[in-house]
Amino acid sequence: MTEPTIFKRIIDGDIPAKIVFEDDLCLAFEDINPQAPTHLILIPKKEIVSIDELEEEDVPLAGHLLLVARNIAKKLGFDNGYRLLTNCGKEAGQEVMHLHFHLLAGRPFGWPPG
Ligand code: 5GP
Repeated sequence: MTEPTIFKRIIDGDIPAKIVFEDDLCLAFEDINPQAPTHLILIPKKEIVSIDELEEEDVPLAGHLLLVARNIAKKLGFDNGYRLLTNCGKEAGQEVMHLHFHLLAGRPFGWPPG
């Protein structure tokens, strides 16, 4: 049996996280190593490795995640903009193999990313 990911352990309450939003489908919490004044991680509670593994049945869930991210950004007043991104696979820098979106705000972001 494979080890649960760190994010699965957060979902299960086995390790603590600073949770900023939760509903039946998803969870958002502060990143442990923030790369901006606000750096949140938004995850589905369903165990999905990455955006690559999304199935047709996950379309409503994927849309829900986007709207939750937008709602958090509005609620926290990211009026100057924010960045929402997901790393898919090793070359993109994915370290935790549970689908997640980074929601970053509070400073200007360069383009292209490093
Ligand atoms: P990835 O590189 O997979 O796209 O991003 C994983 C993110 O999860 C990183 O930004 C990292 O700081 C964050 N992270 C890793 N372990 C933990 C943890 O135990 N708690 C929290 N809150 N964030 C974590």
